[in-house]
Amino acid sequence: MLRSSLDLELVSVTKRYGDAVAVDNVTHLFPAGSYVCLLGPSGCGKTTTLRMIAGHETVTDGAILLSGRDISHLPPAKRGTAMMFQSYALFPHMSVRDNVAFSLKMKGEDAASRNRKAGEMLELVGMGHLAARLPAQLSGGQQQRAALARALITRPQVLLLDEPLSALDPFLRLRVRGELKKLQRELGISFIHVTHGQDEALALADQVVLMNNAVIEQAGTARDVFLKPRTEFVARFMGGHNVLSLEGKRYSLRTDRTRIVAPHEGGMNAAVTTSEFLGTHVAVNAIGAGDTELTAMIPEELFTAAPVEPGQSIRVGWHPADLHPLNQ
Ligand code: ATP
Repeated sequence: MLRSSLDLELVSVTKRYGDAVAVDNVTHLFPAGSYVCLLGPSGCGKTTTLRMIAGHETVTDGAILLSGRDISHLPPAKRGTAMMFQSYALFPHMSVRDNVAFSLKMKGEDAASRNRKAGEMLELVGMGHLAARLPAQLSGGQQQRAALARALITRPQVLLLDEPLSALDPFLRLRVRGELKKLQRELGISFIHVTHGQDEALALADQVVLMNNAVIEQAGTARDVFLKPRTEFVARFMGGHNVLSLEGKRYSLRTDRTRIVAPHEGGMNAAVTTSEFLGTHVAVNAIGAGDTELTAMIPEELFTAAPVEPGQSIRVGWHPADLHPLNQ
């Protein structure tokens, strides 16, 4: 990927709280104009990383550069970044318009100009008709858009989103997810989006950054991180993979490339533990040699034609090319 002068870079960034290291010597380049999802288990350092970029948390060591400028010690409003919080943090006593215009008011911009800009930003997120409402008179999805407009009005180069979809019900989450991606494309700025959800990251991100224990475990395109996990942790965290140990080597194997085969074919004997009907597929879970947990995602019609029962002995097989070696 070409480097651009507008990139955001973390250079050996560390955050310590007393003896605890929340972010450990992280160096990473977030390409300008890209949708990046910061993913990882609870406590891995995602939010701390986001908050340091935003300026809501100090950096213990290292530097944060935006467009080549060291922003590590600038106040949040001077960085060229804006943050949208999980709780949306809208002021309850102010109209949506005044919420969106708030940061411009703080900068001393006159009422006519800030109201016009707030109106434009609300139009952009499809909320123009609700500008006079109070936050309590909005649905969850509408509050989310108001918070988005409020973050974007400062014209940031980088928008930081802390679990922006977590308060929405599953149906709305999918819709708003699509809208976020569209908005990012239209604006051409970088979005850095913290999420717990692998599916969310795969669906949205140009770049997935997977953190574990205060460091980046793997970063790359969604396809790369899913299809070529470097470690067992990545394979297990991203989901959709079995992890196998064969002749002393570790491999990941996609569950949808894991098959139930005839007894004499290559593979591993296993005992079915459960099967789950998932609509298009049935997940057959089994225990193989060495207590290996295996899941085979069988297309629904294949399963229906040859169902298996808990307790049944099966042969689990794969194509050798589908075994992906993992770093030990
Ligand atoms: P989650 O998904 O649960 O929000 P996270 O990946 O965002 O987790 P962080 O909030 O960045 O994780 O926390 C990273 C580590 O730093 C955790 O071990 C956490 O307990 C610790 N930590 C975070 N904030 C503080 C603080 N203000 N004081 C002390 N320790 C903190």
